[in-house]
Amino acid sequence: MACLLLSCAAHAPALTETYVVQRGDSLWEIADQFSMSVTELKRSNGLRSHHIYPGQRLLIRSEGRSTRSSSGVEYVVRRGDSLSKIAARFSMSVTELKRINGLRSNQIYPGQKLRTRAYVAQQARTRPSLSHVEMDYVVRRGDSLSKIAARFSMSVTELKRSNGIRSDRIYVGQRLKIRTRLQKIAMDNGPYYFSRPKAAVQRSRGYREVPPKKPIEDYRNAQNLMGVFNANITMRRDSRSQTLRGWRIVLDPGHGGRDPGAIVSNLDGNNRSVYVVEDEFVYDIALRLYQKLRLAGAEVEMTVISPNHLIRENNPPARTFVHEQNEVYNDVSVNRRNSFSVRPGLHNIVQRVKIANRFFARRGKTLFISLHADNTPTRPKGPLVIYWSRRGKIDSRSRSFARIMERALDLPDVPAQIGGRNLAVLRGNLAQAEILVEIRNVHDKGEAWALRSHKIRDSDADRILRGILNYAKRY
Ligand SMILES: [Zn+2]
Repeated sequence: MACLLLSCAAHAPALTETYVVQRGDSLWEIADQFSMSVTELKRSNGLRSHHIYPGQRLLIRSEGRSTRSSSGVEYVVRRGDSLSKIAARFSMSVTELKRINGLRSNQIYPGQKLRTRAYVAQQARTRPSLSHVEMDYVVRRGDSLSKIAARFSMSVTELKRSNGIRSDRIYVGQRLKIRTRLQKIAMDNGPYYFSRPKAAVQRSRGYREVPPKKPIEDYRNAQNLMGVFNANITMRRDSRSQTLRGWRIVLDPGHGGRDPGAIVSNLDGNNRSVYVVEDEFVYDIALRLYQKLRLAGAEVEMTVISPNHLIRENNPPARTFVHEQNEVYNDVSVNRRNSFSVRPGLHNIVQRVKIANRFFARRGKTLFISLHADNTPTRPKGPLVIYWSRRGKIDSRSRSFARIMERALDLPDVPAQIGGRNLAVLRGNLAQAEILVEIRNVHDKGEAWALRSHKIRDSDADRILRGILNYAKRY
């Protein structure tokens, strides 16, 4: 198999494709997206200046050809390649590249096959492609064609046509083909829906992308996305493992919108600076936790939602998430005011509590968790769980939730901590117990690195889930 792919690779001509310049693109970004240098990109298009315009067609040439194999990616060395060039292309260090190929010197020759890491520069080359999301849906009690169509942003006609149905009658257990209008954009720091960030990575601490749409439009797109996400989860639910049935849980992704939270510098595999934006990474953990909690039978609500992304697997982790200011509060009335100021920010923290409390209108088994990753030089690395306290007054139920969570997050090498604070997001909260979790202290370089890995984000979400399950067993 590998041999076959390699022989293809050896005879394949250099790949060329065209890319149509989008508004807001820069040569730097396009080059980066297709793993080329700006010089290469300019040369292959005969450009003299850095000036490009929307609609312009650029020739993208990828000089080497990589193929996937079970043990990673094999790369065939071409004339002009050097170890450092190849290493850079695959976001590796030269040392690592030499080590996994057992090379002693820096000498390589055209035609030589090199093993590279499993994530693929090829991916970075693929142009963002728009596609529909397709899936099977099993009809449940109470469903109607119009309900299902609405849930997936389809028309009833479309739904009937794509399933060859003539009448409006459907039955429980029937399998329907769903083809939503959600446009999925595949990127290696994605996937994204409807729109993608302009930049492929967060390039500086101050970089931000101002949302082009009104808050109400972003809210509708975000609702649409959450609808499809929910329908997917509902289909995967297993009625035998509903340990959190009856629990209502609000997840509060700590920042978003105007407020990115902490932004710290970190290094990629080539010792180049990358930046980690708290709100973008924490939102991803929140969505993972949301899914796990709903699969366990809980009803879950988010205070902040995003119009263009669900769970994101950034591969390689060097493809950081960009500070997009497009997140909105999960409340239609807030977003009807057409102003940038209604987006989440430090000035409207109380909105988070309002959204939660509306969801908690029915008292009982309710929990509130605000999710963060702080940047605190004075604190050791590891998670911190905060409950409400002020001048010796303590919310004792929240403190016991915090203690249980602390134990669930505790690792031998990275111990968890606990503390009481008078935080606005924990004040006046109607939940039975409410806590704030700083899942990692990104002041520590290793912790910021860990946040960039989607596998570690997933295990972080698992640890928080463990804390919730342990609390739910007790109360
Ligand atoms: Zn924070």
